[in-house]
Amino acid sequence: MRAGVLYAPHDLRVEDRPDPTFGDDDLIIEVTYNGLCGTDATEYSKGPMMVPLNTRHPGSGHQGPTILGHEFIGTVVDAGAKARHRIGERIACGAGVSCGSCSRCRDGRTNLCASYYTLGLSTHGGLAQFAAAPSSTCVRIPDGVTDIDAGLAQPLAVGIHSVDRAGLRPGSTVVLLGVGAIGSFICAALEAHDGPVVAVDIDQKRLDVARSLGASATHLVEPDTSAASLKDLIPSGAQTVFETSGVMGAAERAYDLVDMGGDVVLVGLNKTPQPLQLAGIVLREVNTKTTVAHVCATDIPAALGILERVPMSGILPAAVIALEDVVSEGFEPLVAGSVSGKLLVDPRVG
Ligand SMILES: [Zn+2]
Ligand SMILES: [Zn+2]
Repeated sequence: MRAGVLYAPHDLRVEDRPDPTFGDDDLIIEVTYNGLCGTDATEYSKGPMMVPLNTRHPGSGHQGPTILGHEFIGTVVDAGAKARHRIGERIACGAGVSCGSCSRCRDGRTNLCASYYTLGLSTHGGLAQFAAAPSSTCVRIPDGVTDIDAGLAQPLAVGIHSVDRAGLRPGSTVVLLGVGAIGSFICAALEAHDGPVVAVDIDQKRLDVARSLGASATHLVEPDTSAASLKDLIPSGAQTVFETSGVMGAAERAYDLVDMGGDVVLVGLNKTPQPLQLAGIVLREVNTKTTVAHVCATDIPAALGILERVPMSGILPAAVIALEDVVSEGFEPLVAGSVSGKLLVDPRVG
């Protein structure tokens, strides 16, 4: 089969690889679409961060060049004896593999499993014509969801998990600092929230998408707009602030913006230490919440449910590219920051 294999930073090769093998619980999926995201771009440009190119991954046991792709859907073409899905089913893969028996798995927090690993990051994934995945990471795609919408299920599940972690109060005002990649999926995941959803970004196009996804207000700001000026724009206050950008200073702005007793949900990643005025956070009893990945068993079905009601592909621009062009039309533009919307790779086309 053809597959996109990461060998080293800026060295991703589309090459022939053996078809994947599978165990009793696994499915072999003929991949229809594999989405690319910022995590893939970071691995390609600055990695390896998560991909075990040089050291063995303790959960997956994999080491060495890795087929990327953690956001994929497709059709089951083979299934192990204990797999829960049948040949011919369309499935969305959540890509997060958990043991099912450790204490956090038993608590339903499978994304924090002691031996968690991610297909396409910790071992081979879906950026290929075929992929193997444990049946437990896969969810049948409802008939009412198109392939291209289902291709958005995994990142939407990440957004749903973020909203779940926030524990929103009914009617409260939610502010999204940044509605780029993950921010737009959080915006979509807020569809059932009954209070104002305010999107803030430095890019008008992203704000237009957020508005179409249900944001009740949008504000175009400069990168250095202060929290005080943002407060003036949001008269109802900010009971929950999602910080999605990860840029330097953004977390501090989120804490300055949120109401007393409110919640800041940190979503964006920045490995550089950032100064925070903790006294102000403590004295105003601001809660800090964090979120990572998603819970396959609940968040992927929820994502497919939203996509059935709100076909996001009609709102969020989604471009389909061929696997053979994945470097020039996928990774390089992603790293350059010139992609707006979502990129889906179709390995079926040459
Ligand atoms: Zn992703
Ligand atoms: Zn576990």
